[in-house]
Amino acid sequence: MSLVSVAGDHTPMGHVALVGAGPGDPELLTLRAVRLIECADAIVYDRLVPPAALAWARKGAALIYAGKQRSRHTLLQDDICRLLVRLAREGKRVVRLKGGDPLIFGRGGEEIEALAASAVPFEIVPGITAASGVAAYAGIPLTHRDHAQACVFVTGHLKDGTMDLDWEMLARPRQTVVVYMGLLGLAVLCRELIAHGLPRSTPAAIIEQGTLPDQRAIVATLSTLAARASRQAIKSPALLIVGTVVRLQRSLAWFSPERTALAAAAGS
Ligand code: SAH
Repeated sequence: MSLVSVAGDHTPMGHVALVGAGPGDPELLTLRAVRLIECADAIVYDRLVPPAALAWARKGAALIYAGKQRSRHTLLQDDICRLLVRLAREGKRVVRLKGGDPLIFGRGGEEIEALAASAVPFEIVPGITAASGVAAYAGIPLTHRDHAQACVFVTGHLKDGTMDLDWEMLARPRQTVVVYMGLLGLAVLCRELIAHGLPRSTPAAIIEQGTLPDQRAIVATLSTLAARASRQAIKSPALLIVGTVVRLQRSLAWFSPERTALAAAAGS
């Protein structure tokens, strides 16, 4: 197979599957994700993809790391789009593997736009997004008839040091707010939600490495969470959940890696 596709040659067009790898626990990959990984010629994967997901790759598959650094996003995003198009034009079956769901704060939309513009056939395999996976493993129901009839997913990614969010909407009662990439701006997030009307005592949790053996959850309130997270040196990836549903964690927390391992062993 030629390495470079030249216009007019007869290399058949390949295919790209944009695949979600779930929030961390490799058992949360879908069957379809595993099947596509198994037969891929090339897997282009991100930083938050569980390493165990790559274990299904066949021998000889090209594993290409496309992890992004905060400060170099734009340039690298274009490179990734170009890489996907090039690999497909070389006739490869490509898996573009992303953490969580590929279309939720994952820039998957931009990548499939580039594929569509280049007439590269593609498919999308949804994954369990951090909000549902991490909340479930933390024992926090994102909606609950007694607490929240709505749930909002928002990115707390800082733009020029400020967060351009619709604070009035986020501070509404009877909803759960889930903030992706909110660790850096945690203090600002909590402060603004209070300033826009949420009680200081609103339950809020930050969960680090959710669904993974090292999962840590800090459950506090809007007025205390930022200080506690910084005292306990919470690191990325971490998800912020705000709303009275967080209170349920006290009685519903169930995940402990040892217990899950025991259950798996008992079932095998
Ligand atoms: N497409 C992904 C999100 C990518 S943005 C999805 O659907 O989940 C990356 C952010 O997701 C992180 O900064 C963090 O806020 C959140 N995240 C992803 N995995 C996580 C995990 N295992 N534990 C806690 N937060 C996680």
